[in-house]
Amino acid sequence: MCGIIGYLGKQEAEPIILEGLKRLEYRGYDSSGLSVGDKNKITMLKSVGPIENLEKLIATNALVGNWGIGHTRWATHGAVTQENAHPHTDCQKNIFLVHNGIIENYQQLKEQLIKEGHRFVSETDTEVIVHLIEKFFQGNLEKAVIQALKLIKGTYALVVISRDDPEKIVVAKKSSPVLIGLNGNEYIIASDPSAIVSYTKKIIYLDDDDVAVVTKNGIQFTNLNYEILTKKTQTLEWNLNEAQKGGYPHFMLKEIMEQPQSIKNSLAGRVIEKDGIVKLGGLENIKARLQEIKRLIIVACGSSYFAGLVGEYLLEEYAGIPTKVEYASEFRYRQPVLDKETAVLFISQSGETADTLAALREVKRRGVLTLGIVNVVGSSISRETDAGIYNHIGPEIGVATTKAFTSQLVILVLITLFFGRERQMSFSLGQAFCQELYSLPALAEKILAQRENIENLAQKYKKYHNFLYLGRKYNYPLALEGALKLKEIAYLHAEGYSAGEMKHGPIALIDKNFPTVGIVFQDSVYKKTISNLEEIKTRQGPILALATEGDEEIKKITHDVIYLPKIKEPLMPILAIIPLQLLAYYLGVSLGYDVDKPRNLAKSVTVE
Ligand code: GLU
Repeated sequence: MCGIIGYLGKQEAEPIILEGLKRLEYRGYDSSGLSVGDKNKITMLKSVGPIENLEKLIATNALVGNWGIGHTRWATHGAVTQENAHPHTDCQKNIFLVHNGIIENYQQLKEQLIKEGHRFVSETDTEVIVHLIEKFFQGNLEKAVIQALKLIKGTYALVVISRDDPEKIVVAKKSSPVLIGLNGNEYIIASDPSAIVSYTKKIIYLDDDDVAVVTKNGIQFTNLNYEILTKKTQTLEWNLNEAQKGGYPHFMLKEIMEQPQSIKNSLAGRVIEKDGIVKLGGLENIKARLQEIKRLIIVACGSSYFAGLVGEYLLEEYAGIPTKVEYASEFRYRQPVLDKETAVLFISQSGETADTLAALREVKRRGVLTLGIVNVVGSSISRETDAGIYNHIGPEIGVATTKAFTSQLVILVLITLFFGRERQMSFSLGQAFCQELYSLPALAEKILAQRENIENLAQKYKKYHNFLYLGRKYNYPLALEGALKLKEIAYLHAEGYSAGEMKHGPIALIDKNFPTVGIVFQDSVYKKTISNLEEIKTRQGPILALATEGDEEIKKITHDVIYLPKIKEPLMPILAIIPLQLLAYYLGVSLGYDVDKPRNLAKSVTVE
């Protein structure tokens, strides 16, 4: 999720690793560390906070040697502490390892390894890998790594070194990127080409299940069955600035494009399809208390509030829990009725949103159960709630949220299943949800493939100054979020409305200069929404529709259609927000705005 660097060559490794870590800083991180090997000795340093803290440590503890590994961590499992920072090492301090990703079955593996006598010093999922490698190590590092990988479930980019098998780096990958840069007899490993583009442009990307063994004599690639692979060297054509954004012109676009992966990360290790249930580590311990809950209040701000509105519909329809959603800034200053049978769920990407945090403290003071959906591990809201669920999507840099919003929706579906299966939801419905959740990443890819079409639509619509976004039921909050994206990124006036409410006022605005983005899928409210769009058409309002693939009817109302694949109605917002994000993005760009630094906005709102 965050950054990895490795180096093996003739030069001192420490400055090269440090430079690489600095180049990865733009991705966001909470702690960092490195290990450098010299003959039969490996030295490790780690620190919490900015890389300067690590640099200060290095200044007083020289790291000599010409092979090593480094890491910037974005915590997913375990708080932001020095012990939890990477590299991690085994009981013998022989193996040192850095990891990006999530090990889904770490609990099981950890229990087993502890029984076998391994001593754990961190709360991370990562540490199980290094102890597993230790268990299998008999002098050859790659063999032990491969044996360990066969037992691991989850996502990883791994870079491993060993004191007892020196001057060698083993690299492995599954669903998390890693590549090796070549410069004569020197090798530099990175999770992201931006870290090494100033050093070399010749790189080899690892594919899933590849294992690379890097020594002074070259690189050997194998699969997990030890079969030798031949890999292609590629030449990077990026300049440094482009590289930082993964080749995309803006972080916002990069993060929009990352959504198939971020959705996967939010689901990882949580969905048990065969039983039609979900496991949410953070909630398991308070399961008994949750069973007594009769009412839920969701408290949030901005896009998180809109995600909460989708949650309200979901929780009421599928879990039978009366739910309401409130703006944190309102909730904290009024007198909400709370009792012991109510739980309050706080949603915040950063976990530091000032209004949400203040509302949380007030609820806690009144002795009510508090839950959180937070992305930043160890943030105030994640620490202060009684229990919660992390998004696990890595840092979000774009000011206007994209991948955090879709992840919040995914987590709300998971919470609904968690509550629902304990209450009214059948096994078969639970299972159907699980299957459809798994299909989301591939469907998101399909939508992203249409981005050129959406870019063209943005060109067509950029002449307008006002927009109405309409949707019903699950797509009503989506209309609100779509309109918010347009305001934030393209500085265009946009109103999100429930399609049925449109006739109670906003319809007065409609004319040929006031376009409507109509979200109208073939779902339980299709016909009703179509009628609303007909009313717009009658008044000459231009319409851009988001519709279900194969819906020819819609063409009678408008020719501007973005088609989306079909999925269960309550899951639709997770997919349907993607074209709306792209539309806002391309409108913002075509109007000449800096979409990564929208005016007057801050990423995490830590003031009232
Ligand atoms: N899951 C690991 C941790 O929490 C790795 C996080 C990362 O990719 O930075 O330490």
